[in-house]
Amino acid sequence: MTTSQIGQFLRTPTMRLAAIHLAIIMSLSIGFSVVFYHTSDRQFARPAAPPARSESMLWPNDRFDSELRRAMDERFNQTRQALLVRLVWINIVTLFVGGGISYLLARWSLRPIEEAMEAQVQFVSDASHELRTPLTVLQTSNEIALRKKKLPAAEARTLIEHNVEEVKKLRDLSNMLLDLIRSEHKAARESVQLQDVVSEAMTAVVPVAQAKNIAIEDAVPSIAANTNNAILVRIVVILLDNAIKYSPADTQVVLTARQDSDKVLLEVTDQGIGIRASDMPMIFRRFYRADKSRSTTAVHGYGLGLAIAEKLATQIGATITVESVAGEGSTFRVELPVANDE
Ligand code: ADP
Repeated sequence: MTTSQIGQFLRTPTMRLAAIHLAIIMSLSIGFSVVFYHTSDRQFARPAAPPARSESMLWPNDRFDSELRRAMDERFNQTRQALLVRLVWINIVTLFVGGGISYLLARWSLRPIEEAMEAQVQFVSDASHELRTPLTVLQTSNEIALRKKKLPAAEARTLIEHNVEEVKKLRDLSNMLLDLIRSEHKAARESVQLQDVVSEAMTAVVPVAQAKNIAIEDAVPSIAANTNNAILVRIVVILLDNAIKYSPADTQVVLTARQDSDKVLLEVTDQGIGIRASDMPMIFRRFYRADKSRSTTAVHGYGLGLAIAEKLATQIGATITVESVAGEGSTFRVELPVANDE
């Protein structure tokens, strides 16, 4: 380690916090030692009480008295010195032990902050990366068109249509990013009929399903959950949208719901490509897309849908779980609190 590296290490937040902890520990330790030493010293320096009359009878001569006083003073001085040495040692040990403890405490208290910072940096870099792609496409296609001496109306129209598509993607992405960084405050909940939620969500995705000839079967019975209508609709739209995106044409997506003790389970089942076991732990992560090569070419997405769905779920006290068999299909399950009046 070079001196500049050591200097850098000493300036890290962990070392600074550890130094503050150690300064507090040492001021207390030294302060206590000083007070203790002075109090003891004052006790040693206290003049000895004159011998009682009966005792003076036993120590008749002054010489013996002064000898005794000298011996006692010597003893007090030795004790005083021994005390001083011991206090110095205690403080040296406190310095080293306290230093170690302060460092561990500083690391322990800064770790969550460091992790949050790293996640933030990762998020910003992933988001910038995702934003850059459509922006580069827009810039390049416009520059190529501008370089041409003449741009036929039909070509210009195609270009504008393409640009509008890219701008839409950018708007979707920025909306998703905003959804992700919004606060996780709890949303107001009430008794909500799942049939109403499902009908509302279906209207948003039916055109996409029809384009792939995917049938959405609504088999949700009359069940109410204690939830927030608008938020649950958004979650179901994300799950339905994925079920359609990751299913081949001419398949079926089924929506069901049932009550299980104090929970209401809403399930979206598809006959799509499924999710490999190795991808399962990652699919709820921001920007994660299973089998990137396939997803990015065949299916458009940013890997944010499930991260948003999970975040929305926490706002309504719900949880999302998934069961899937690669090549056969997936079932996404939303676990909701049962309605209070049930
Ligand atoms: P996106 O769909 O934009 O990629 P998501 O966060 O919604 O992002 O999904 C993350 C990944 O999880 C997807 O890229 C896909 O690989 C996988 N996935 C999600 N839903 C399904 C599904 N119903 N069937 C198969 N894979 C899915």
